[in-house]
Amino acid sequence: MRATCWMGKQKVVVENVPDPQILNGRDAIVKVTATTICGSDLHLYNGFMPTMQKGDILGHEFMGEVVDLGRDVVNLKLGDRVVVPFAIACGSCGQCKLENYSCCENSNPTGWMPEKLMGHATCGTFGYSHLTGGFAGGQAEYVRVPFADVGPLKVPANLSDEQVLFLSDIFPTGYMGAEFCEITPRKVIAVFGAGPVGQFAIKSARMLGAERVIAIDPLPYRLRFALDKAGATDVINPEQQNVLEALRDLTADRGPDACIDCVGLEASGHGLHYAYDKIKQSTKMALDRPMAVREAILACRSAGIVSILGVYAGFMDKFPIGALMNRGITIRTGQCHVHRYMKRLLERIERGEIDPSFVVSHHMKLDEAAEAYEMFMAKRDNVMKIILRA
Ligand SMILES: [Zn+2]
Ligand SMILES: [Zn+2]
Repeated sequence: MRATCWMGKQKVVVENVPDPQILNGRDAIVKVTATTICGSDLHLYNGFMPTMQKGDILGHEFMGEVVDLGRDVVNLKLGDRVVVPFAIACGSCGQCKLENYSCCENSNPTGWMPEKLMGHATCGTFGYSHLTGGFAGGQAEYVRVPFADVGPLKVPANLSDEQVLFLSDIFPTGYMGAEFCEITPRKVIAVFGAGPVGQFAIKSARMLGAERVIAIDPLPYRLRFALDKAGATDVINPEQQNVLEALRDLTADRGPDACIDCVGLEASGHGLHYAYDKIKQSTKMALDRPMAVREAILACRSAGIVSILGVYAGFMDKFPIGALMNRGITIRTGQCHVHRYMKRLLERIERGEIDPSFVVSHHMKLDEAAEAYEMFMAKRDNVMKIILRA
C-alpha cells in the first residue's frame, strides 16, 4: 500500500510499504477513504517530538471502510463506514472506565517511555512517535486499528466524509477545550491560536453559549476565518497589538473568564521571553516554547480557567506559577478523551447544529502528502485543513 512516511526533519515521503495485517482478535483493518494533516503532525514534521524513527507512518485523523476484522470484534462488520479516534483505548482499564480514554493504561506498548518522562504512561496514538506506541498512522491506504470494538464510530451514509472526519480529533478536542471553560451565557472566552483546533474551540464555545469569543492569531486570514465561519466576536493580531493590553481593553480590565491555548510547543512571538524560549528549545535545555500558555495565564481573569489543548512535550521555563497560584487560576488540560465525545458530537452534526466541513480548504491526493505538509507548514494559500485521498 501507499503510506506517508516520516523520513527526518521536514521530510515526508509517500512510499510503498507492506499492507497491515490483523495481529490481535480485537483489531480491524480500515481502508482509508479520507485523512488529513493535523497541526500536531507539524511538531513531528519539524522534529520537536522525540523518538520518531525513519519510515514511521504518519497520521492520526482518518476514516474509512472496515475491510478485515479480528474474531473478537462483534460490533462491526465488513463494509461498515467508520471514523476512528486518534487515541487508542482498551475500554476496560481503570482510566477507560472513568472515560479518561487518552490516559488508557493498556494501549501503549512503549508506555515505559512516557512513564520516565511524565511519571505515568499515556495511551497509544496512531502515527505519533514511539512515545505513544509506535503505531502506524492513517495517512495511508490502509491502517490497523487496535481495540476496534471500542474506538471506531459507525457513521450514517447521509453524512459526507468531510462532515464526520474531524470527529477523529479536532472537533472533540476543540469541544473539550470549550467544555473545560464551564461556559455560561455571559462568559467571555479568549482562544489563543486560530488554526483548525482553535476554530473548533471558537465554534464550540459559541455553541455552548459564550457571549463573546476572542480569537488571537498572527495570520490575518485565520482571524477572518474565525469571524466569518467559526463565530468569533472579536479578534486580536499579536503582530499589531499587545495581546495582554488588547484583552484588558475588551474585558473592562478584568481579563477573559477563560483562555484556551490552541497553540502548543512551537508558539511564535516577540521580545526577550520569546528569544529565551527559542534558545532553550534549540539547545534542548527545554522541549517546549511556552509563549501562548504563559500569555493565557497572565491574561486570564483572577479565579478563571486556562484550558490547554496545544501539545506540549516535556519541560518549560519561565512558567508563571506565581500568577497561577496567587490569582487562583485553574488549569484544565489533556489529550482529548475522544471516545467520550464522538457520539454526542455526531448527534449535534446530525441535528444540524454544526457542520464540521467548514474547516476544509483543500483537497489533495495521498501521493501529494509531501507537498501538503509543506503547504500546511508554510500556511500557504489560506490553508486551513487539507483532505487527502488515495
Ligand atoms: Zn490531530
Ligand atoms: Zn484502557
